[in-house]
Amino acid sequence: MNNYLTHWSLTRRKVFANCARRFAISYIKNNSAQFPHKRRNKWRSPWDLMIQSTREVFFQWLSDLHKNTIWTNKTIYSNIRFKIITNLYTFNATKGADFERLRNQLTNQGYLRFKKLLRQDLIRRIIGGKIKEWSFHKRINPVKFGHLEVYCSPDIVFKLGKKWNLVRLNFQSERNQPYHDLELCTMLLWSRGNQYLPNLDNKFNVFGIYYHMGKWQQKHISPTQQLLQETKQLLEKDVHNMNLLLSDFNLTGDYDSLPLATSKRYCKRCPYKKKCPVNYN
Ligand code: SF4
Repeated sequence: MNNYLTHWSLTRRKVFANCARRFAISYIKNNSAQFPHKRRNKWRSPWDLMIQSTREVFFQWLSDLHKNTIWTNKTIYSNIRFKIITNLYTFNATKGADFERLRNQLTNQGYLRFKKLLRQDLIRRIIGGKIKEWSFHKRINPVKFGHLEVYCSPDIVFKLGKKWNLVRLNFQSERNQPYHDLELCTMLLWSRGNQYLPNLDNKFNVFGIYYHMGKWQQKHISPTQQLLQETKQLLEKDVHNMNLLLSDFNLTGDYDSLPLATSKRYCKRCPYKKKCPVNYN
């Protein structure tokens, strides 16, 4: 019998919304011979690795900026290149490809994305010293919210005047984001759990900086109690639906019986596309 699912993260939410089979293989613990846990996530698509690598390098850059160390363009480029090469090997994404060409293409794409991000107003103000009180955070520790564990920390937090500003960076956003506001407001739960920040909702601004169609865009929200309430309901509902899927899965123990993605595009980057029934339909 599987345990009740209690974790919520944006990544889980997106996978769940796109494909039940992929979600179950990724997050439901099971003694399946088909997908033993130790063999999971061994492959990632080169495109996803470019996004992941660029994000990782951006955090290294932020860490150095925080210590007043500024990178040259050459350092940015070579760090992205190195990270991409390492990740391509780590996640077995080199097979069957013209490696040199792939590496150069991905590095150029990551570099361009990185440089465009540095031109975003908020980031420019941090670089230029106009925003002095700031910190960055990695989304590795969950926050307790009732019976749930929620991965919701902001990527950057800064203070301007009396307001705290919570920023989430999304290096590749989806075309449709019907719950974008609520997803961004999950950062408020992190701030309530964080002892260093005040827990009054009207003292916050929430920002989403996201890459879409070749451009970085910015969304600003002034959160209200109503939004915070709806955000909590979203989390509860998501995890409830994930547990309904878990119950369905427990009936058969068969991943292939679960609903599949409707977008072929999504399947292209899926680590579990080999032997997936979607290929036989
Ligand atoms: S290949 Fe597509 S349908 Fe199959 S598990 Fe992956 S995302 Fe789902």
